[in-house]
Amino acid sequence: MVVMTINYSLAVANLISYDDGHQDAGDIAKGIPPVKSPTHPLIDALHAHSPEFVDLRRDIHRHPELGLAEQRTSQLIADRLNSWGYAVHRGLAGTGVVGQLRRGSSARRLGLRADMDALPIQEASGLPWASVHDGVMHACGHDGHTTMLLAAAKYIAEQGHFSGTLNLIFQPAEEHPGGARLMIEQGLFERFPCDAIFAMHNMPGFPQGQLVFREGPTMASSDDVTITLTGMGGHGAMPHKATDAVVAAAGIVLALQTIVSRNVDPLQTAVVTVGAINAGRANNVIPQQAQLELSVRALDREVRDLLERRIRALVTAQAESFGVKASIDYKRDYPVLVNTAEETALARRVGIELVGEDRITPQAEPLTGSEDFAVMLEHCPGSYLMIGNGAGEGSCLVHNPGYDFNDDNVSVGAAYWALLAERFLVD
Ligand SMILES: [Zn+2]
Ligand SMILES: [Zn+2]
Repeated sequence: MVVMTINYSLAVANLISYDDGHQDAGDIAKGIPPVKSPTHPLIDALHAHSPEFVDLRRDIHRHPELGLAEQRTSQLIADRLNSWGYAVHRGLAGTGVVGQLRRGSSARRLGLRADMDALPIQEASGLPWASVHDGVMHACGHDGHTTMLLAAAKYIAEQGHFSGTLNLIFQPAEEHPGGARLMIEQGLFERFPCDAIFAMHNMPGFPQGQLVFREGPTMASSDDVTITLTGMGGHGAMPHKATDAVVAAAGIVLALQTIVSRNVDPLQTAVVTVGAINAGRANNVIPQQAQLELSVRALDREVRDLLERRIRALVTAQAESFGVKASIDYKRDYPVLVNTAEETALARRVGIELVGEDRITPQAEPLTGSEDFAVMLEHCPGSYLMIGNGAGEGSCLVHNPGYDFNDDNVSVGAAYWALLAERFLVD
């Protein structure tokens, strides 16, 4: 998940009661934190595997790898899937792994996706399983996503009841530069067709194990825009003999503020942020060029188009009025993430069956962060859900140098995937 904004309250955490009767002496000896899980038998079953997978999660956390360089993680996933009897395909987007398991006579095909990349952040968690790689860290919990799906994979292979084709998709480079598009361009859905696809992200600010759903637009599109303004440099004492790109840049920054306030429907969501202005080095020199870096977001495809049209029009007209030349590099990055109705309804029903009505959020607010899984949802119906990371080690936001995935969620998340597979893959 990329660039999150969280505004949920932790207050509900106090309303949730947990059963913490799962811990035994072995767990304590291994330093595994007490498990606070509800009592669905599938969660109990997955908890039996939990020590193995908590160790695995921490091992992945200790060895984070940046997008498209997930060699060790990819190998580890492939080895395990092989050992549990999956047909394993490697190489989509380089480090991507797909494990396939077929059973029974149903023609139904389900895709479950986990991301596996880390971030260029220096870890400061102080945890015993902190990153051993300088400047690289699992600060978005993708170590946990990979582990939850692997724990489910083992359970499903050994004890799962389903009929159809299960495709477990381990995707590189969610954060950057976008492994979903690469996997799809290299034939993901031709080789592994899916009738529906699902993904899960851990979410600080919700109680541990809370399952959070939303139908419709859920995460924003994210576009990166670079505007380069070229004037004529000169002496700071003689501005009339120069064409000042700095003044033009200042005018453009202000003009851009009118797009959200004056052009976008007030009931719609849009963000135009100028995150960087680069120009000049000395007070007595009028620089030749100024550059602006923008982050542009929307929760609706038409609003996204409107933002691009208005940014281009305003920048061009403003630049002309100041006598400078503008070049606009407009990169469309991740699209709006839209969860489809039928698949979200199923995802929600499975959540209620697993943890109960009290521990799900049926229709959460959308977020202005963005997510690479949106690209997969443009090709296949499905739903993206979240699992609360709790108020403990995950109390800071994702992408924080102190962040850590909550290991209590390994069994809850894996049980969710196993139950979803059983409910979706039926005759
Ligand atoms: Zn992230
Ligand atoms: Zn993420």
